[in-house]
Amino acid sequence: MQALPPELASPQLIAKYEPVIGLEVHCQLATRTKIFCGCPTSFGAPPNTNVCPVCLALPGALPVLSRDAVELAIKGSIALNCVVNPVSRFARKNYFYPDSPKGYQISQYDEPLSEHGFVDIVVGGPPNHVAKRVGVTRIHMEDDAGKSQHEGFKDSGRYTYVDLNRSGTPLIEIVSEPDMRSADEAVAYFAEVKQALQFVGASTCDMEKGHLRCDANVSVRLKGAEKFGIRAEVKNLNSFRFLKQAIDYEIARQVAIAESGGRMFQETRLFDPETGETVGMRSKEDAHDYRYFPEPDLVPLRVSEKWLASVQESMPELPAVKRKRFIEQYGLSEYDADVLTQSRAIGEYFDEVAVTTKDPKTSANWVMGDLAALLKTADKEIGESPVSAKGLSELLGLIASGELSGKLAKEVLEKMFESGHTAAVIMEREGLRQISDSGALGKIVDEVIAANPKQVEQFRSGKTAVIGFLVGQVMKQSRGQANPAAVNDLLKARLS
Ligand code: ADP
Ligand code: MG
Ligand code: ZN
Repeated sequence: MQALPPELASPQLIAKYEPVIGLEVHCQLATRTKIFCGCPTSFGAPPNTNVCPVCLALPGALPVLSRDAVELAIKGSIALNCVVNPVSRFARKNYFYPDSPKGYQISQYDEPLSEHGFVDIVVGGPPNHVAKRVGVTRIHMEDDAGKSQHEGFKDSGRYTYVDLNRSGTPLIEIVSEPDMRSADEAVAYFAEVKQALQFVGASTCDMEKGHLRCDANVSVRLKGAEKFGIRAEVKNLNSFRFLKQAIDYEIARQVAIAESGGRMFQETRLFDPETGETVGMRSKEDAHDYRYFPEPDLVPLRVSEKWLASVQESMPELPAVKRKRFIEQYGLSEYDADVLTQSRAIGEYFDEVAVTTKDPKTSANWVMGDLAALLKTADKEIGESPVSAKGLSELLGLIASGELSGKLAKEVLEKMFESGHTAAVIMEREGLRQISDSGALGKIVDEVIAANPKQVEQFRSGKTAVIGFLVGQVMKQSRGQANPAAVNDLLKARLS
């Protein structure tokens, strides 16, 4: 019998309940090689070419833990404010899966790499935004499985291909406390985690390549109730939009069950991006189903104080710290500071421009305005900008010294962006220098006065506002290169 489509509760009913959400985030560490062997982690190689006896799980092959993977996992831990344990231990998590050649995953269980962290999130725009702290329970290291590729489901027979290139890729799993109370909070948390991991270089967090994905644990309880409801876990969400859709769907589904007197059972579900629905996959296994035991082929992982300190020292400034510094040191608004810390690259770019020009507000405007627009049109990241921070600083210096008007500078920036040349080269080539010299300007001013007797008469009879028109004529004649302030002064001197 076909199961009836699940009924979703109305917003009125949902309003009686409070959702409770905890996320498990899986993140691929940005190492060159796999976690227990020297095979490359590169993406897109022909199937089963990045493999060796270890990641194929051939009998007798032994794992050797990658130091790089541990260091990146430590960086990720520090970025999420976790305490790194001096000793942690790998454990076998036993389950069968066609793309897992060992028949178990090497993970960590009761002695994870790090614990007791937190992530600060802000939800909603000002003035009604809510700030809150979400607990990070633990971060543990583990290896990834390979990939199955299914083909020909209808008349042509069924095939499944197994590609083990991904087998043994290093992951960290970040488990949150059940602290989130809406899909928006969960999305904000996921975004903060992504940003922090990218900032410290622990991961590229490339979601299209599956480098970052999460499982959402969702339950609902009547508002005011003390006990948590029974949770469903929605697996493998690989975009912010899917995370939000999956959680909202789960909330509506679970409230409908609760309201109709039905009972929830703990289960694992899958999200279908086509329909926006979640579907039951299996009843949830408990920890004992995995028959965890300490991995006999690896010694416990010891992170000495010295090692931890040296990793700590190599850490870049974290986003939250940078944001605060931009506000205090440069007097930026919260909004500007937020935009300029969206990535480490944009923060570093802005820092350099602001320090060089000593005019943070103007620097912020150009980085977030004209430069950002050019990057967007060209579909480039700031790291690929043809205009370097030094180049932009020079341009802003030319505006400050009066050699370029703001309007001309915009044109020059566009040409710098297209050609990769410096502002000086472009101004030389195009003859684009602001004219402030009273000799050269005087000639144009005289011509404009002679050509516009009516306006000159108006000015002299007291309608001084007409000077704006005359300044405009001089600007036009000079192809925008005249210094408007100097033109103003000259006109006034000649007309009075
Ligand atoms: P498992 O691997 O069995 O899913 P974990 O401890 O790794 O267990 O993860 C459990 C996740 O579920 C955590 O993120 C936790 O915050 C969350 N969680 C636990 N209980 C609830 C609940 N009642 N409602 C929603 N989320 C929950
Ligand atoms: Mg889980
Ligand atoms: Zn290998």
